[in-house]
Parts: sequence; C-alpha cells; structure tokens
Amino acid sequence: MEHWLNAGLGRMLSVVVPCYNEEHGLSELHRRVTTVCENCVGSAYELVLVNDGSGDRTWAAMCEMAERDKHIVAVNLSRNHGHQLALSAGLKLCRGDRILVLDADLQDPPELLPKMMERMDAGCDVVFGQRIKREGETAFKKTSAFIFYRLLNRIVDINIPPDTGDFRLMTRRALDILNSMPEHHRFIRGMVSWIGMRQEAIPYERAARFSGETKYPLHKMIRFAIDAITGFSIRPLRMATYVGLGFGLAEVFLLAYVIIEYLLGHTIEGWTSLAVIILAVGSVQLFVAGVMGEYLGRLYIEAKGRPLFIIQDVRCSDEHAQTRSI
Ligand code: UDP
Ligand code: MG
Repeated sequence: MEHWLNAGLGRMLSVVVPCYNEEHGLSELHRRVTTVCENCVGSAYELVLVNDGSGDRTWAAMCEMAERDKHIVAVNLSRNHGHQLALSAGLKLCRGDRILVLDADLQDPPELLPKMMERMDAGCDVVFGQRIKREGETAFKKTSAFIFYRLLNRIVDINIPPDTGDFRLMTRRALDILNSMPEHHRFIRGMVSWIGMRQEAIPYERAARFSGETKYPLHKMIRFAIDAITGFSIRPLRMATYVGLGFGLAEVFLLAYVIIEYLLGHTIEGWTSLAVIILAVGSVQLFVAGVMGEYLGRLYIEAKGRPLFIIQDVRCSDEHAQTRSI
C-alpha cells in the first residue's frame, strides 16, 4: 500500500456508497469504512455517500457526518433515481485514483480492501468480489440470482462473471471509461466487464443486511434483469426470425396433412385445435412485439439525451470542494 500511495503525489482512495433509506446503518458503515481506510491508506481517502431520494433521515445523518468528518462527501440527489444511477452519480463526483464501490447495508465487507489493493498493485484494473455464499437472503432471491447470472451469460456476447455485484475496486483509468458511457439503463457490473483490461475476482461470503430491508423488490429485480439483457445483446430481437421460421415449418406440415386428408376424402374437424393454434400464434406475436417495444423504448429514452441524474446538494469540507466541479 505504501508503494501505491508514494508513487504519485496526492494519491487518494474513494469509497462510493449509494444509500436509499439507510439511516440506521450509516454510522456502522462509517465506522467500518474509516477503520479499514485508515489502516490501508492513512488519511488519503474520501467516503462519497449518495442519498438517492430517501424518505427517512438518511440525508440529515449524512450531513451531520460530513460536518464532523472531513473525509466525507455527502451528495443529495433531487429524487430517487435508482441504485445504478445513484452509484453513477457518486462515481462521477469522486476524485480518487482508486475507487471502491460498496453497498450501504454492509453486505459486502469493506475489510476486503487490503486484499483488493494487493491485487491492484500486482497490475489489475478491476478487482471484484464474487459471492460464494449469501447469508440472510430468501431462497427465492438466491435461486433467481443463480439462474439469472448463468442465463445472462448464455444470452449476452460478453463474459459477465456470475455471482458478482457492484462490490469492486477500480483504477481511475477503468472508471474514466465507465464514466464516459452515456446510457441511461445501466447495468454497471456488465459495463465494467465490457471494458475488458485485467480484471480479477476475489471470492467472499456475502453477509446479511446490517439493518433495514432489501430495496430490490421483485418488480425492480425483473427490470434490472431486462436492463442487463437488452443492454448487452440484441439476440432477443433475432428471436422473432427463428420463432417465425419454426411456425412456418409447422405450417408446411399441417398443410400437407390437410391436403392428403382432403384427397383421401376425409373432412377434418377440430375447432379446438384451430383455437389453440390461433392463440399460440397470437401470443407469440404479442411477445415479439413486446420485445421490440423494450428496445424501441430504450432508444427513445436515449434519444432524448436527458442527464442521468440531478444533484441537488453536496456537503463536504472546503478542501474537497476545491477539487470538485460542483
Ligand atoms: N439503493 C439505492 N437506490 C435504490 C435502491 C437501492 O441507492 O433505489 C442502494 C441501497 O441503499 C444499497 C444498494 O443500493 O446501498 C443495494 O441495495 P439493496 O441492499 O437493497 O439490494 P440487495 O443487496 O438486496 O440486492
Ligand atoms: Mg443489500
């Protein structure tokens, strides 16, 4: 660690944490991150806390912490933007040469930092935590996440490591590339994989939430999964061609069967089978139209070119404010 800090004047580590209704966990987060950072880089660090439009006292607690501790940069977004955009805001504002991304609920242990720094000293650009075990999460969440990450890798064209969240240490050059990607529907763990360069995994056991409840109910998980797939592959669009071909082929056989039966002098009955076929074809058509709609909608949102997030307020010491364009 000494080696990295001394190699350039004014080197700094940034720890970026998106927070949504996390008032009860903040002081423990602060305590653990401070201990780890002091041991690792002395006082050359900043803790960037992003309040993502919380409805509780999260912002007030952040402001109090920023008053007392000059390492803290408290950022208030104008409303709830969602986890990935809140994280993007923090990543845009941070000034470190190495950047650690953490969740506010302490499910990912900041104590892994020294190990990650070591890997980075050895030349890695990204060191990410890979969950080998998850505590305190429902069987449904664990199973769906397990299936999702494996399915995702079959669909998308890049290699997104399975069981990996946003818990990672990045170099400034990797972050600058990430920050230059303008898309609104962000699946950051995939975007980081897309960058390439040297990336390494560190296996760890994911703890239960320190306090509060998950901010990812089922509908947000589904939206997140669709963002992941549409963000990295257009394969679902091609699906229409294959499904169309399949149905076309089935139609040829059906036609042959009807003609033969006709020539043999049989009448074919079967309103039920007709109804089933019409329903099947209709639902496939609607599904394909829905898939196209997903891509079209995303194109529309990108075309508007609105900012990704709106920062309402930043609280930090003067020392930090001078080096930040806010
Ligand atoms: N989060 C956020 N905005 C949101 C939802 C979540 O900033 O709209 C933050 C949340 O405070 C936490 C992180 O994103 O720090 C991950 O959320 P959570 O722990 O609820 O997800 P899980 O670990 O259950 O997948
Ligand atoms: Mg969590």
